[in-house]
Amino acid sequence: MLKLFWIVCVVSLLIAVAAAGKDYYDILTVPRDASKAQIKKAYKKLSKIYHPDKNPGDQGAKDKFVELSDAYAVLTDDDKRRIYDQYGEEGLNQQNGGGGGFHNPFDIFQQFFGGGGNGRQQERRGPDMNLEIDVTLEELYHGKSVNVEVSKQVVCDHCFGTGAENSEDVVTCSTCHGKGYQVFEMQLGPHMVQQFQQQCDQCRGKGKVIRHVCTVCQGNKVRRGNELYTINIDKGMKDGEVITLEREADEYPEEVIPGDIHFIIKAQPHRRFERRGDHLRIQETINLYEALAGFEHNIEQLDGRNITLKRSGVTQYGLVEKVAGEGMPIDHGSKAGDLYVEYKVIFPTHVDKEIIQGT
Ligand SMILES: [Zn+2]
Ligand SMILES: [Zn+2]
Repeated sequence: MLKLFWIVCVVSLLIAVAAAGKDYYDILTVPRDASKAQIKKAYKKLSKIYHPDKNPGDQGAKDKFVELSDAYAVLTDDDKRRIYDQYGEEGLNQQNGGGGGFHNPFDIFQQFFGGGGNGRQQERRGPDMNLEIDVTLEELYHGKSVNVEVSKQVVCDHCFGTGAENSEDVVTCSTCHGKGYQVFEMQLGPHMVQQFQQQCDQCRGKGKVIRHVCTVCQGNKVRRGNELYTINIDKGMKDGEVITLEREADEYPEEVIPGDIHFIIKAQPHRRFERRGDHLRIQETINLYEALAGFEHNIEQLDGRNITLKRSGVTQYGLVEKVAGEGMPIDHGSKAGDLYVEYKVIFPTHVDKEIIQGT
């Protein structure tokens, strides 16, 4: 009985030790056999969410951001990943002589997203995409999140950009034994042999060949895919304004940074309101009697509220009246432009003679 107790103690101690190290795969939400492309993609997605600039004052997000770059740095380094897989975080700490923090988390982020000019040499970058999004005046008035599906080239998520059906299908080239070149000898004379190297045509210099190509992308490493983006249209945005999503255009399996997606606001014409900068303009019709004696009309604002237009006495044809503060929102809605109402008078089609003579 006592013996069993000790076994339980030792086992729980072992579990506690294992749990003390961080699970880098968990942090990046990737499987243990994740490819580098898959790890990169996960890092790219998560680091944007937890970047301290996006979460000011949030220590939790900052810690998470640091954890993500730790996990990324280890899992994309073949040696470190091997040590980590075998011995966990403890193994890495021993290798580094203790005291983690062997890189700057912001450096890794910048490799993906640029900025902070540390004189990085010319990076290859894919082209930008320009996409128009149709937005109604109501949507520009209220502000809105819209979901936009974008068709673009994505790294194949079946093979994670390797082009192989399984990770075991990427094998060392048997022709060049992984060197990427072959050595040939040419007899130049009876005692003279010249050696020369030629790129291996089996693996085209890569040193690795794919046994079974990925059935989803047919070994192309990329495919067409749809990605859903949520675009925040800010209150008062204007026709032609651009919302940029950095590094979200076509993806590439190799070391090419995706270009940006530019969403261009295309404001749709409105059946009642006309927009002029931050101001709105509307035409309101009144009859002749109202033009002479005054009136009270309600018009519906873009948010459904009623605005009461009230005049007494004579209203001239074509008069433009300003309703202050009922235009489009400015500065996220902290201010607003004005509404201009232009009155049109509808004349009667016929008037009895007696009425005219009577006046
Ligand atoms: Zn594939
Ligand atoms: Zn080869």
